[in-house]
Amino acid sequence: MQVDFIIIGQGLAGTLLARSLQQRNQRVLVVDNNWKNSASKVAAGLMTPLTGQRFTLTPEYPELFKTAEKELSKLNVFRPTHVYRMFVDAEQRTRGLKRAECDTCAPFIEKITEGAGKISLDWSDEFGGAMMHGAWVDLPKLLQESAEQLKAAQLLRAEEFNYADALVTDDGVQWHDVSARGIIFCDGYRSALSGPFTYLPWQPAKGEAISFNSNAPDSSVVLNRQGWALPLGQGRWRAGTNWEWTGLNEIPTQVQNEKFQKRFKEYFKCEVSVEVTDHVAGVRPCTSDNHPFIGTHPEHKWLHLFNGMGPRGTVWAPTLAQEMADHLVEGRPVRSTCDLRRFTVSA
Ligand SMILES: Cc1cc2nc3c(=O)[nH]c(=O)nc-3n(C[C@H](O)[C@H](O)[C@H](O)COP(=O)(O)OP(=O)(O)OC[C@H]3O[C@@H](n4cnc5c(N)ncnc54)[C@H](O)[C@@H]3O)c2cc1C
Repeated sequence: MQVDFIIIGQGLAGTLLARSLQQRNQRVLVVDNNWKNSASKVAAGLMTPLTGQRFTLTPEYPELFKTAEKELSKLNVFRPTHVYRMFVDAEQRTRGLKRAECDTCAPFIEKITEGAGKISLDWSDEFGGAMMHGAWVDLPKLLQESAEQLKAAQLLRAEEFNYADALVTDDGVQWHDVSARGIIFCDGYRSALSGPFTYLPWQPAKGEAISFNSNAPDSSVVLNRQGWALPLGQGRWRAGTNWEWTGLNEIPTQVQNEKFQKRFKEYFKCEVSVEVTDHVAGVRPCTSDNHPFIGTHPEHKWLHLFNGMGPRGTVWAPTLAQEMADHLVEGRPVRSTCDLRRFTVSA
């Protein structure tokens, strides 16, 4: 079999890159080992504009959000939603009020409240909060529908890829019966553990999430305070998450389960029930400078990486999939802040 590119991994990154390459008339073969706790299968897929303790908007967010909205809407997986960030204290409220005045933040902020009960009497927003314009991405639909399309065209192999089985020559790459112009690693945090890109400064981080039923007051708004809770309708919710940099595995823990339940209950003034139906854990492919790793290996021109999407894959991947495809097909440089060549092999 002859293809232009072999893509390792059909998570969010591999899915969107395969699509961008196909749009440029490239033939791809996607190899995926159907790993049930991949980051894309565990993630809620939220896009929250202002984040972190300091409640900041990253400089690239407006541009990335615009492209994500356009590209993911075409696939019918983009779900605009309000996100209500409840402030933890008066200091955060002061910061929030300042953000509302800044030109780049303003389009993402609908309203800042200064005390409890200004939007809903149900929420325990003692210090007020920021009602933001965000979104969530229907990742299960995106992954499943793309897998079906690739499978129908015989361009998806459900198989484990071992780098040792790939033969890299002067003319390209050979893997089993497949010849290609290149291999692109979209294998999530596995690239931090083995393969040609382990030299990069990865910082994979474990996170967990629960799904549950609750009698909490109906909401169409994502609730956010030191974590998030996404309403799925008819009393169903998802909530998470946490950060763990050591002992990386995909095993959910009782400690986090209890923490998420407690946090959720504290979002409401009245007592609410939580009946957990699922609890998952996964590892985010995070990087030392919070920017993805994309581009071509400095020493092997047939080996490429499209990875390191970190905690905001839904925000980064749609734009970067286009840039990476232009790089692979037309040799255009990828943006310097995400180019893997910002780090040297010996680093
Ligand atoms: C708990 C949690 C919550 C998150 N919440 C959000 C959120 O709200 N919003 C957001 O934007 N992001 C969120 N993220 C981050 C997001 O999940 C990632 O940025 C994104 O999913 C990364 O996608 P990926 O395709 O690079 O990696 P992955 O989703 O991990 O995909 C890698 C793929 O490669 C395959 N694979 C790996 N190794 C091999 C191999 N050797 N052979 C064959 N196939 C292989 C796997 O089966 C998998 O399908 C969250 C992550 C976690 C863990």
